[in-house]
Amino acid sequence: MQAECIACGRPMPLCAPMAYSCDCGGLLDVRRSLKGIDADNLKRIFEERRALRGSIYASGVWRYKELIAPELPDAVIVSRMEGNTGLYQAEGVTRYAGMRRVWLKAQSENPSGSFKDNGMTCAISHGRALGYRRFVCASTGNTSASLSMYAAYGGAKSIVLVPRREISENKVLQSLAYGAEVRTFDGTYDDGIRFLADHAERLGLYVCNSLNPMRIEGQKSIAYELAQDMNWRLPDWIVLPGGALSNAAALGKALRELHSLGFIDAMPRVAIVQAERASPFHRMHAGGRKTLVPDPAPKTRASALNIGHPPSWPKALRLLEETRGVTVSVEDGEIMEAKTVIDRGGIGCEPASAAALAGLRRLVRQGVVHPDETAACLLTGHLLKDTDAIREYHLEGRWGASMRNPPRPVDLAQASREDL
Ligand SMILES: *Cc1c(COP(=O)(O)O)cnc(C)c1O
Ligand SMILES: [Zn+2]
Repeated sequence: MQAECIACGRPMPLCAPMAYSCDCGGLLDVRRSLKGIDADNLKRIFEERRALRGSIYASGVWRYKELIAPELPDAVIVSRMEGNTGLYQAEGVTRYAGMRRVWLKAQSENPSGSFKDNGMTCAISHGRALGYRRFVCASTGNTSASLSMYAAYGGAKSIVLVPRREISENKVLQSLAYGAEVRTFDGTYDDGIRFLADHAERLGLYVCNSLNPMRIEGQKSIAYELAQDMNWRLPDWIVLPGGALSNAAALGKALRELHSLGFIDAMPRVAIVQAERASPFHRMHAGGRKTLVPDPAPKTRASALNIGHPPSWPKALRLLEETRGVTVSVEDGEIMEAKTVIDRGGIGCEPASAAALAGLRRLVRQGVVHPDETAACLLTGHLLKDTDAIREYHLEGRWGASMRNPPRPVDLAQASREDL
């Protein structure tokens, strides 16, 4: 398997010991020839695989193996039937956005509860093919949970580096439950990434962060499945939250390949939403700059977005250039309100995911998105990933809490209609 530096074009083999960036500092992209791929034939095969059970091709990632990692032997693939997630419309959500048609693609329904599974199944499988037995990541939580799950299922060892502060306890507990070796450190996600970039090779560890281009290959399946769900006609807008910007990187590569292979006729526009106090990418783009100035102290309640130096920003910038894309930032209060709307719609998500809807609402109000256009928001993580957020809103009445729904005591001996 072959990668290429996106900055200088240098070819880089994806073999052991793995390199995760070019000597020039550029990010890597998997490169393979798309010659000989027949879109119509593959569409038919992808449709047939939807009916499968009990084979890796029943997975919502490996269904698209030809477009992700055709050279990986089936025997090394560790799959938990990831993907295959729901695409929903909820009236309250559509009304809240101020539009007529909004879809939610619920990657929260993945086996470990976040979209990280789409990429992780691919990274772990590739690492196994190279003979690695120890897998590592630095993470605000969901990458750790996903890695821990796949490593456990594949009989390998996982080590996860987790910042001591500003993370969701649920996610760390999930990693502990799967048997990961959890190492907490003083510092931010960005410090953890820097450590791995400098030391993973020496320590014989396979890195499962999004610097690893194989994770990005797996995450392309989110766009593939959305496109297939919509009969290969994407909505006008795809809206996603931006933290480390891995999702944006994968979406960009997926859309580029789908378009050049003729799976889709037109490119959608893309909106990347950041949390106001962790928005270095939005500030760069809004300021018309082409270099990212890291935020040394990001601080948002949406813990999955609490990232000051998003590694994949050059790929995200390329996505914006190719899709006439936009960025927007939203306050934590708006995120929590949008989350409550999604929860009340019977779908639910963790705070970071709701940034997409909060951002879409802002863009409609700013006149950037027209109410008659269509949009799909990516819901990145599950409602139960952050139960503290539910407690804060509904029990403690924080975050405005205009839709607060606390429990009320009832005396069963004399309960009347007013009580129930
Ligand atoms: C990882 C994550 C994000 C951020 O995605 P990036 O690819 O890092 O931009 C958003 N929401 C949730 C729930 C996540 O786990
Ligand atoms: Zn380079």
